Amino acid sequence: MFRWRKILFDTRPKTERKDFFDREREIEELKDVIRHKDFAAVLGIRRIGKTSLVKVTLNELPDYATLTLNLGRLGSKKSYPMETFSKLFLEGAAEFLRKYTFAGKVSKIIANRLGVNPEDILELNWLKISVKLREFKTEDVNEITRALDSIARDNKKGLVIFIDEVQNLKKVNGFDTGSFFHDVYEWCENTVIIVSGSVVGVTEEILNQVEEEKPFYGRKFFRIKLERFDETKSEEFLRRGFEEEGIKVREEIIGEAVRLFDGIPGWLALFGRSYSYSVKHSHPIDIRVVVKEAAKQVSKEFTRFLSNSNSPRRYAEIILSLSRLGNKGTLSEIRDVMNSLYKENIGDSRLYELLKTLVAYGFVIKTGEGKYSLPIDLPSRLGLKHSAKMWLKRMP
Ligand code: ADP
Ligand code: MG
Repeated sequence: MFRWRKILFDTRPKTERKDFFDREREIEELKDVIRHKDFAAVLGIRRIGKTSLVKVTLNELPDYATLTLNLGRLGSKKSYPMETFSKLFLEGAAEFLRKYTFAGKVSKIIANRLGVNPEDILELNWLKISVKLREFKTEDVNEITRALDSIARDNKKGLVIFIDEVQNLKKVNGFDTGSFFHDVYEWCENTVIIVSGSVVGVTEEILNQVEEEKPFYGRKFFRIKLERFDETKSEEFLRRGFEEEGIKVREEIIGEAVRLFDGIPGWLALFGRSYSYSVKHSHPIDIRVVVKEAAKQVSKEFTRFLSNSNSPRRYAEIILSLSRLGNKGTLSEIRDVMNSLYKENIGDSRLYELLKTLVAYGFVIKTGEGKYSLPIDLPSRLGLKHSAKMWLKRMP
């Protein structure tokens, strides 16, 4: 059989442990939660390896079938109708039905609900499905999930529902998150839910709400937090990756990359990939080009955040004020810079709220009581500043 060789510097989520560096402890933790039929929440900033962790772990649990709802695919709008969610759900369900042929029967149930043919579901014939999608409600999602649960059980498998980037559920109008989670809890004995969330603050809000609404007597969400690699780990990651690529890299370069990318695996992989490519194909190498490419991604994400927020101007001003303060400052320092530089007249409690949101989204780090800083990695700093500057320029 053809097998991809092991490759650490791939910029897509990993699915196999051999491509996934470290995180043994987290994999074991997640397995433990799944085996005990508890629910899990994998939390951490963007590009820290959440999707990879879940995929690698599930790949090692052949007794479980997985239904994935990738909410990261929702776009940059503020809100979406239930129909958009239903579409994602059906896409996940169709992938499930194709992958696990034992579940074929469920396509009939879905087709019945929608009034289309089972083949239309398996082939995702949107021409036929779209018109019926408006009728599709949370109860339908619940019913299909129950069917998947029981058919998985009949086939001696557990069911895992993986909701990637769960904070985006907040953007969906008409989906009753609480009802869905509780339905699974109550009726799907054989099913475990795993969620991931990049916006840790918002994800916690959702989980707390679900847990408080009607406690899951017995069951709960176990939080697994993914942290950045420390310096030693980052170095090891790069060394091992370059070794795989068959490339010799000077110590200073590794040291510089470790410093600039602050232990974020997504950046390290991107850097390793670009660097190896340049060396192999004798292109000139400049680490700053990689930083710029990465910063562009952050800039896009922050601009998206700004355009969805109610006080974009003030968020942009906070970023630039922090930058002016040498990338870190106290609440009152930020307030003073904002008020003098941007002629704002902002009070402490309002500023505190705005900072709290930026922290929840990972754009600002809270380093202590009333103390804040921009993220340490250079791509984030450059990207945030660039986006904030452009925003103020465009919207004077
Ligand atoms: P997240 O879902 O948290 O945004 P991903 O799982 O998509 O993160 O990972 C982001 C990038 O970093 C991908 O290119 C992935 O291959 C890489 N990556 C993350 N963690 C690791 C790791 N432990 N070992 C190897 N590559 C990793
Ligand atoms: Mg992800």
